[in-house]
Amino acid sequence: MAERNIPAQKVFVCDGCKAEVEERMPSDWTKLHVKANALDFQGCAVADASISRDLCPKCTRVVHKAINDSMAALASHRGEAK
Ligand SMILES: [Zn+2]
Repeated sequence: MAERNIPAQKVFVCDGCKAEVEERMPSDWTKLHVKANALDFQGCAVADASISRDLCPKCTRVVHKAINDSMAALASHRGEAK
């Protein structure tokens, strides 16, 4: 029986839309990392609640807009100007 060895391939997958790129993460992709602790009812950190995402340019724009819109809404809710 013949055997052929196929080398491993590294593929990056967007955590948003599941788009794939090979070899290395393109410079226009984003690594989003939000560091946070999960707190118990007394406010003590009990676990890591961080999130980490690899995002393609399209999904990066969506996330940027969502963050900016959320921050503007919070500022508006506090009565601050945009
Ligand atoms: Zn994407």
